[in-house]
Amino acid sequence: MTQKTLLIQGGTVVNELGAYPADLWIEDGKVISQAPTGAYASQRADETIDATGKLVLPGLIDPHLHFNSPFMGTITAHGYDNGTAAAAFGGVTTLIDFSTQPKGGSILQNVEQKEEEARGRAYIDWSVSGILLDAEPQTLAEIPQLIAAGLPTYKCFTTYKHSGRLMDDDSFLLLLEATAKHGGMLMVHCENDAIVNYHTEKLIAAGELAPIDHARSRPASAENVAIQRVVDLMREVPAPVYIVHTSTAESAQIIQRARLEGLPIHSETCTHYLILTEEKLKGPNAQLFICSPPLRKQKDVDALWHALGSGAIEVVSSDDAGVLPADNLRIGQGRFDKVPSGLTGIETRLSILYTEGVCKGRITLPQLVAAACSTPARLFGLYPAKGHLNPGADADVVLFDPTQTWTMSASTLHQNTDFCIFEGWPIQGKVETVISRGEYVIRKGELVGRPGRGQRVFRKQ
Ligand SMILES: [Zn+2]
Repeated sequence: MTQKTLLIQGGTVVNELGAYPADLWIEDGKVISQAPTGAYASQRADETIDATGKLVLPGLIDPHLHFNSPFMGTITAHGYDNGTAAAAFGGVTTLIDFSTQPKGGSILQNVEQKEEEARGRAYIDWSVSGILLDAEPQTLAEIPQLIAAGLPTYKCFTTYKHSGRLMDDDSFLLLLEATAKHGGMLMVHCENDAIVNYHTEKLIAAGELAPIDHARSRPASAENVAIQRVVDLMREVPAPVYIVHTSTAESAQIIQRARLEGLPIHSETCTHYLILTEEKLKGPNAQLFICSPPLRKQKDVDALWHALGSGAIEVVSSDDAGVLPADNLRIGQGRFDKVPSGLTGIETRLSILYTEGVCKGRITLPQLVAAACSTPARLFGLYPAKGHLNPGADADVVLFDPTQTWTMSASTLHQNTDFCIFEGWPIQGKVETVISRGEYVIRKGELVGRPGRGQRVFRKQ
């Protein structure tokens, strides 16, 4: 199926430094060269795509999502089949799932199970970050093995003690030490467990169980304290750390200060924290907007855009972790503490970043590419194969039509859900064609890729 030679001409190529008219010459799944418009006019490719009027973007990378993830009595709605297809419709060509260490068990073994889940199903390239539940000698010994296996990122939690996922300070320092020694990157979910538990118990005792009480149970302070604690511990053992789903105005400042101090700290926010506020937890379908950390206030939304523009926050991921709405409602029973929290967003990131970010002047097009393509490629060990369109890169290309307008809705998306957190949102620009390693996955809005063609990418930092 790979085209021997493919010419994409007449478009505007975007990288993290700029947007400029250029043509791409692709051979056997790789970008061979890039030149000013018309430069290849005298050469004959097996296929030529006219990209006039289109933006030509590197395929997006989503470094944070949860496929087939068991959670609170159900399982996340996306797997490698429907999840990678929906991701591709959103311009994603590489994604990184999670695999959770069984309590006291081997994270490596569990990662192998992901190979099984992806086999014959994945439309686009993928990888996995392990979720570590302890820092026992066996787990620490597996860190260099994970890195050697091309899986150099792994995550831990500062909360969820009640379900055995909390990494205490003693263990966290050991993980930092192993990371510094072997060269991986530790991802951290930051919410202070004591603060969350204190508020949760008080709210439950008072019978305050509505969706908005979920946000009250996990205040901004819980996230800020936890991030500051990570920074303090990094001063003892400096090692690369990536703070997942930052959602508060203060978090970006804490991270920025730590970076200026010289600590190797990175961070992401997620699409939903850039758009929605906790007001959604008071409105219709409020229960379906519960996620952790919770949606915040408008001042946080504004600060996150600013942090993205200034570079304090470097990446935007989806944290796609939604369960089917019917499951959410059945299990949650209107109680915030029972809800399988998590939102669906694997397809919506590019549309939202373009419409709300680029079109509204909050970020530039190159900044969009940096946050969704180049920087995650570098931080997660996918660079130089992924994240850009310079010679030598995999030909992972998105043709984006900036002139189209449409309305975001569960019915206009391809995610495995009948609920859309951005229902009714007016969108500017649309993904038209998605190419992965020189092969069409989406062609003029139609899924034409073959399930199972997606490969696990060997990541190296
Ligand atoms: Zn997550």
